[in-house]
Amino acid sequence: MNSYERVFAAFNNQEFDKFPAINPTSVITNELMREKNIFFPSAHLHPLDTYDLAVAGHNKLGFDSISPYFSIHIEAAALGADIDFSSSKGMPQVLNKPIKNIEGYKLPKDYLNKREFKVFNQIISNLNKKYNKKVPIIGKVIGPWTLAYHLFGVENLIMKTILEPKQIKNFITELSKCPINFAKQQFENGADFVVWAEHVTSDLVSPEIYQEFVLPIHQQAKKELNSYGPIILHVCGRLADRVNILSKSNFDMLHIDSRNDVDFSKKQITNNMQLVGFINNPHLLRKGTREDIRKTVLSLLKKEVKFISPECAILLSVANINLIELTNTLHQFNLDTIKKIEL
Ligand SMILES: [Zn+2]
Repeated sequence: MNSYERVFAAFNNQEFDKFPAINPTSVITNELMREKNIFFPSAHLHPLDTYDLAVAGHNKLGFDSISPYFSIHIEAAALGADIDFSSSKGMPQVLNKPIKNIEGYKLPKDYLNKREFKVFNQIISNLNKKYNKKVPIIGKVIGPWTLAYHLFGVENLIMKTILEPKQIKNFITELSKCPINFAKQQFENGADFVVWAEHVTSDLVSPEIYQEFVLPIHQQAKKELNSYGPIILHVCGRLADRVNILSKSNFDMLHIDSRNDVDFSKKQITNNMQLVGFINNPHLLRKGTREDIRKTVLSLLKKEVKFISPECAILLSVANINLIELTNTLHQFNLDTIKKIEL
């Protein structure tokens, strides 16, 4: 099986030769950048650099997917935020919040023609020319709640949610057109999955606020994108109080982090949403040994997690050898052979 066949067999509950190693978020490391002689921030800005570095996640690290959107800046930049690209050691940061008044807010008419969207769609299209049906291409969009953080500010958003709930609902409904349409473009250009990154984490939003303000928009997005391709909802943090509600979005997968219990999370899902993730980035991938990584992967496989991946964009200081240990371990087993392993 090639990577594409492996990932889709697992995704569709069919037999697969070995466990797939997908990366819904960035697996770029300093080491990988040195090997390719391509560095942040230029890798965020120059399409050929983005392409080459994203492909290295597959060729050099062994992942069964290619994810070319390393950060969270594309939509914010296209919609008027200033982005600080100065860091070579981390991700770009959103500097100013361009929207001051959300009353009656409308997206600019021609926003989909912005250079940022065109460039990213071109990268997806180029990847598709080479890897179509060989390696799944994973696109990404930033959900409207997170986009509102970037464009209007976290404090403003939370305050307005209490004071002017109707305005907030209109605002994020309008903003949601951006990820929905950008996701459609990515699928049309050859993405096989699209990650929908939404920071509705427990430190920022209660489950009740998610349910009232964001869930209906997620459900609508899923309806509109259903015929295009599968969506991976990415939410960081502890999700014990909201996995069940998140699953009601009907998105196809939930990219979940290592602070969440596997069995508990699985029980919270009553539909077909599949889980992906569970690998700790700062401790296990950055500081752990290869043996630690192998043990963790095996114990997750024993708990019948089919899609194991880094939990979020990894730290640039992670060693390539640790990521290779992750993908190699996954590739050594399938559903039958893992049963024979004693831990
Ligand atoms: Zn994250």
